[in-house]
Amino acid sequence: MSAPEGSSAGEGLESDADVVVVGASLAGWRAVETLRTEGFDGTISLVGEEPHLPYDRPPLSKQVLSGKWPPEKAVLADRRRSSELRVHEVLGRRAAGLDAAGRTVTLDDGQALRADGIVLACGAAARHLPGTEDLTERDGVFTLRTLDDSLALRAAVTRTDGVRVVVIGAGFIGAEVASTCAAMGCKVTVLEALEIPLSNVLGPMLGTHCASLHAAHGVDLRTGVSVAGVGRRPSEVGTGAPSSPLVVELSGGEVVPADVVVVGIGVAPCTDWLDDSGVTTENGVVCDDRLFAADGVVAAGDVARWRWRHDGEEELIRIEHWEVAAQAGMAAARSLLAGRARARPFTPVPYFWSDQFDIRFQVIGNPRGDDDVEVVDGSLDEGKFVALFGRAGRLRAVMAIGRPRLLMGYRPLLEQGSGWDEALALART
Ligand SMILES: Cc1cc2nc3c(=O)[nH]c(=O)nc-3n(C[C@H](O)[C@H](O)[C@H](O)COP(=O)(O)OP(=O)(O)OC[C@H]3O[C@@H](n4cnc5c(N)ncnc54)[C@H](O)[C@@H]3O)c2cc1C
Repeated sequence: MSAPEGSSAGEGLESDADVVVVGASLAGWRAVETLRTEGFDGTISLVGEEPHLPYDRPPLSKQVLSGKWPPEKAVLADRRRSSELRVHEVLGRRAAGLDAAGRTVTLDDGQALRADGIVLACGAAARHLPGTEDLTERDGVFTLRTLDDSLALRAAVTRTDGVRVVVIGAGFIGAEVASTCAAMGCKVTVLEALEIPLSNVLGPMLGTHCASLHAAHGVDLRTGVSVAGVGRRPSEVGTGAPSSPLVVELSGGEVVPADVVVVGIGVAPCTDWLDDSGVTTENGVVCDDRLFAADGVVAAGDVARWRWRHDGEEELIRIEHWEVAAQAGMAAARSLLAGRARARPFTPVPYFWSDQFDIRFQVIGNPRGDDDVEVVDGSLDEGKFVALFGRAGRLRAVMAIGRPRLLMGYRPLLEQGSGWDEALALART
């Protein structure tokens, strides 16, 4: 099939072409802004399944959940900005199909949007615990991905004093929900399958440190447990009680009572609508190093699995963090404008943060649970430190608590690629 008007295979976009962005959130919005700041004058249609204009998700488990911020404060783009950027908003509508070669997005009502360039920025959705897919907020069972999820969860945990909240999963989102709910006076239990929470990302030493924060803030963290089911206590079904208690059943038979259950077991990229589309989906939309999934089709943010070149290596990676999604949205727009032949590789040094129990964790690079980890400044006991992560003789990541400036000092080492011994020697000078 020949390339649509406004572009040809491998080439960039004419300034008056048509672009469709699927996903009205961080990566999609950054792509829209970048198209305009780079001088793109054509039409931009922004398709979003949620009814809202783009907003930020990190406050949903923190300031919005706690009530410190009204939801409006999490807004990324308001109506005025959207109109300034001449965005054709297609909100509350789901993209149901893509024809990458024909550059056409079909919406859930059958409408077809033809374009010269397409940005896939449809993110990821919360995973459900097998067997709990049919349970909803009305049953007291929540996941947390959207603004509406956060507001519904807030309503549930503030209904009375001392609400019993059981969080399934002690990853970053689960730990943030636990921390926010504990600070709001809820009785919080966290159930985690790993023996040491976050050890798959941060390793056992730092994972143990994270675990100690839960206990220090009155959260009952139970590790190495497996959840068998969530539901109403069977013995009380049919007793006529106004509401029989919600329980989480563990594999060993133990039952943990709850008023609210939050399932925080990770996310899955939103690729279900991309079957037979001409782009490859395998744990995300598979892209080249410039974020192209096909000629004229780029992907960005939590949905994109791209060829990340760094430190002389290359790996296919999907990252679920705010800064990478924002940078990818910008990079994807530039790639689309330049075309596949002239676009530049997307080679960020990943960064993320997490706020738990009044503490900000910050990480640059790409840590793994089996990395060598060395604390090079401060100490875990002090609660302020910098730790380096090394793998295969190279520095891979740096984590800090209470040392933001020192952390950023390591960015050039990760950018340039540094040996592990060299990084340790530098840290000790
Ligand atoms: C509660 C919470 C707290 C977080 N805290 C942090 C933090 O502290 N630090 C950090 O680094 N990161 C954090 N993150 C991660 C960060 O928010 C994400 O990396 C970021 O939102 C990814 O942006 P995105 O635009 O790629 O995808 P998303 O934000 O997931 O947006 C994708 C959008 O596309 C829409 N969509 C999906 N499918 C379709 C379709 N077929 N048609 C139309 N629209 C569709 C979705 O409804 C959604 O609105 C947090 C995330 C959550 C949920």
